[in-house]
Amino acid sequence: MFGPESTPGSADFPGGSTPKAAIVGSGPNGLSAAIALARRGVEVTVFEGRDTVGGAASTGEVTLPGFHHDLGSSVYPMGVSSPFFQSLPLGEFGLNWVEPRAPLAHPLDDGTAVLLEHDLAATAANLGPDGPAYTRLMRPLVDRWPQLCREILGPVLHLPSHPVLMARFGLFAAWPATMLARTLFRGPRARALFAGNAAHSVLPLESPFSAAVGLVLGAAGHAAGWPIAQGGAQSIANALAAYFKSLGGTIETGRTIASLAELSGFDLTLCDVSPRQLIQLAGEEISPKYRRALEAFRYGPGAFKIDWALSEPIPWRAKDCLRAATVHLGGTIDEFAASERAPWEGRVERRPFVLVAQPSLFDATRAPEGKHTAWGYCHVPNGFTGSEIQTLEAIESQVERFAPGFRDCILARKVWSTAAFESWNPNLIGGDLSGGAMNIRQLIFRPTEWQYRTSNRKLYLCSASTPPGGGVHGMCGYHAATAALRDFGL
Ligand SMILES: Cc1cc2nc3c(=O)[nH]c(=O)nc-3n(C[C@H](O)[C@H](O)[C@H](O)COP(=O)(O)OP(=O)(O)OC[C@H]3O[C@@H](n4cnc5c(N)ncnc54)[C@H](O)[C@@H]3O)c2cc1C
Repeated sequence: MFGPESTPGSADFPGGSTPKAAIVGSGPNGLSAAIALARRGVEVTVFEGRDTVGGAASTGEVTLPGFHHDLGSSVYPMGVSSPFFQSLPLGEFGLNWVEPRAPLAHPLDDGTAVLLEHDLAATAANLGPDGPAYTRLMRPLVDRWPQLCREILGPVLHLPSHPVLMARFGLFAAWPATMLARTLFRGPRARALFAGNAAHSVLPLESPFSAAVGLVLGAAGHAAGWPIAQGGAQSIANALAAYFKSLGGTIETGRTIASLAELSGFDLTLCDVSPRQLIQLAGEEISPKYRRALEAFRYGPGAFKIDWALSEPIPWRAKDCLRAATVHLGGTIDEFAASERAPWEGRVERRPFVLVAQPSLFDATRAPEGKHTAWGYCHVPNGFTGSEIQTLEAIESQVERFAPGFRDCILARKVWSTAAFESWNPNLIGGDLSGGAMNIRQLIFRPTEWQYRTSNRKLYLCSASTPPGGGVHGMCGYHAATAALRDFGL
């Protein structure tokens, strides 16, 4: 299904000519769509508004010289598990996954940390009375992880190839995360671990299906890991771009497409943008009915992020936190639930869930010798206009709570408000880093019932605003390209 396809489709294309495709945007999904088309003999040009490729998979020196910060994404459970990425020779084009000693650490106020270890049994041993229940929940998903990935990294509504596995997954995935954790687990450690993973859904943890992301990320940690990319997120984008060019593809950076009229010379266009941008780009090229459907699409909370240049590793009280590139700060399940409810109510909790990435612990290329980089973000209301100072304080206080002396290690910082995110990358509408809310309606109809297709038969969407949604995995791009190839008989 995902293997190389070198048969050019041009013979079937009207006029017998080589079909030409334009891709608007070079995020991981735009580049993946470009590759999937180029592999089938389509002549593809990618247009990227910024001077570098990658979108939210980019790295830059935004604090001090020699400190390389991942501007968006940093940790890739779904990237390393992506069936499409696995079908590409990205290692030959410079991508090396680096797996931390543990996928995730979750410190608690008692000075210990709950660890998501690679080994399921080792994780369970750390969960006190809930070890057996955790094992029973995760084992079936971990054992059949590749099959599960193929089922979940695409449109939600499909005939499953592994119905028993999917029925079991669906049985628990449909639950609100808090209800699942409180029903299955008795102790604070397992509950907190599950809540932290589920909080990546950017949904209130009391809402249906918020458990799904908790299950997927937990199982990914045991089955495949949560790696970082050596050299930073940019290495993923650069590897995708270099492979694409090796297939004969062209990339024009520094070229923002303002209107589809600029692309009239192409047979088809795939847009790595969100619905709001597509409405502007397409103008009269889409039907009023389709435009209304796009207008109904809802964005989720935004992110407020700080990149830190550090004089030393974060001084965690629980030293186990140094074994993981990802650290979940927030303490108990109740705190996580309160934190994730707040942005949907227009607020930021005083002690929010802070997601920390500390990649330089495992990749010496990120900072000058002995120095470190890290980032931390919390979820805030979409388009948040509240106090930046207070939000910065809330984030750094959470780090200080679990790592006393942290502030003394800060050499420099770069703050990303929701507006700063959107002006850097127009896909991050109001700071939403998932390409739109990941509620059940928008998981199925993402962004509309037509998913990758639009009312214009030459126009497709291929961004994280299509299934399976946010994350660096390229599957939205792959599925959009597959839909286009099928429609064009290529
Ligand atoms: C702070 C942050 C942290 C994250 N952490 C993680 C993580 O650790 N792991 C993970 O898997 N995911 C993470 N994500 C999510 C992940 O990065 C995104 O879901 C993913 O990058 C989406 O890819 P995309 O190709 O759909 O869009 P994007 O990566 O957003 O790329 C879109 C590209 O299109 C370009 N573009 C837009 N409009 C135009 C136009 N009109 N003309 C030309 N170019 C245009 C933009 O400049 C941009 O380069 C994070 C995101 C953010 C912001």
